[in-house]
Amino acid sequence: MGVSLVWFRNDLRLTDHPALAAAVAAGQPIVPIYILDEETPGLRALGGASRWWLHHSLLSLDASLRAIGSRLTLRQGAAERVLMEVAEATHASGLYWNRAYDRPSRERDARLKGSFRARGLTAESFNGNLLFEPWEIKTGAGGPFQVFTPFWRACRSGHPPAKPLPAPTNLPTPAKWPASDKMDEWKLLPVTPDWAGGLRDSWIPGEPAAAERLDVFLESQLESYRAGRDIPAIDATSRLSPHLAFGEISPRRIWHTASATRGTAALDKFLSEIGWREFSYHLLFHHDDLARRNFRPSFDAFPWIDDNPALEAWQGGRTGYPLVDAGLRELWTTGWMHNRVRMIAGSFLVKDLMIDWRAGERWFWDTLVDADPANNAASWQWVAGCGADAAPFFRIFNPLLQAEKFDPDGDYVRRWLPELAHLPGARIHRPWLADLSGSVYPSPIVDHAAARSRALATFQSLKKAS
Ligand code: FAD
Repeated sequence: MGVSLVWFRNDLRLTDHPALAAAVAAGQPIVPIYILDEETPGLRALGGASRWWLHHSLLSLDASLRAIGSRLTLRQGAAERVLMEVAEATHASGLYWNRAYDRPSRERDARLKGSFRARGLTAESFNGNLLFEPWEIKTGAGGPFQVFTPFWRACRSGHPPAKPLPAPTNLPTPAKWPASDKMDEWKLLPVTPDWAGGLRDSWIPGEPAAAERLDVFLESQLESYRAGRDIPAIDATSRLSPHLAFGEISPRRIWHTASATRGTAALDKFLSEIGWREFSYHLLFHHDDLARRNFRPSFDAFPWIDDNPALEAWQGGRTGYPLVDAGLRELWTTGWMHNRVRMIAGSFLVKDLMIDWRAGERWFWDTLVDADPANNAASWQWVAGCGADAAPFFRIFNPLLQAEKFDPDGDYVRRWLPELAHLPGARIHRPWLADLSGSVYPSPIVDHAAARSRALATFQSLKKAS
């Protein structure tokens, strides 16, 4: 009897896993496999924080599989070659996976489908990671959307997303398991130095923790989400982003579980944020190389400034603007940054320092536990003004006004900048007015008003030239 291979990718869960459900329905023994593919050309290597998450998420998935009589096979190498080898070794008759949407993955998956089918084997892919397929949502003229509001209206006006599928309660196993790597051999965890202490303190990767996070959020935080989601000092958002990035929970499960709660304005707001994720994937699918190519080509001629010391000051949370620095330090410590602060810190890099948004995108890619090929690239392009439905370039966040509005008592900054913690209330946002003798906290690396004028003048000359 042949086996069915289920290829786990960014869908490290058992509940609402259409590829796994299809393999169960095929009725053959199942070999669940994960491949660390650092060889296929064009695929982006995971950042450090994602590697940490992946290690723990795979251990969690293996434990869940073992609880239903199965196990996870780990292999390293180019996925097409590895899958062919494993298919031969196990006499597989089918391969099942949930889709990815970046071009290199899509091209590889299409080749794989072709090779499997040419050998008379089944090869099937499914939508496991989005509410709707990017090609299903179309404008009146039949093309892709470039603006969020009509996109989301179109999503909501059609049929609701499919209901989530239950997790299987046992999996038929092969007579002989294929060879598997050992998790530790992959060396995904940082060792010298071990910088992951803050990640360990902040997160529990894996499907059970993701489900619990959703329950806690819906029960105790959703009601205040609308009012609280912009205040970084309070824990008002779901923090589901890394669980979504690794597919430990599906957006359909989030949608249906959340929709079963009392319909409130907060619920609509929360679902629309899941909608922004869908929109980012819509953009990723329809536009090549979202993390590298300006969505608006008019930005190709933008004269970004190559300023390594300034970039390093930003990365290290040493710009002299406390809210920006607090965000970058939260990111470095926990692998996550509050959305409002991501926007302010991003704007500061791109507009105050005039550093190319791609440098910020790369830093976030390396340091975020929720680093996501669609959300990160689309959000950076949004911040820089070169993206779809983006904040116009001339709308430049004032880091001081933002701080006074969204962190009025300075509690968020106080948490992440201990060297300023003694400054009372909102005075913490203007440390240059205080006596900081002996403090290591830097003076502002740019004057915001002057930097703003420089950015606007540059933008104007770009507009004139185009
Ligand atoms: P919640 O407010 O609870 O939202 C629920 C879910 O909706 C999130 O988990 C996320 O999947 C989605 N979501 C929320 N806001 C957005 C948004 N603006 N765009 C797209 N999806 C959204 N998000 C990532 O998941 N990965 C990234 O790599 C990423 N990079 C970003 C870079 C920049 C410069 C900016 C401004 C934003 C970025 N975001 C990214 C979007 C957003 O900041 C995070 O999704 C959010 O902060 C995650 O916290 P949460 O799960 O508590 O969000």
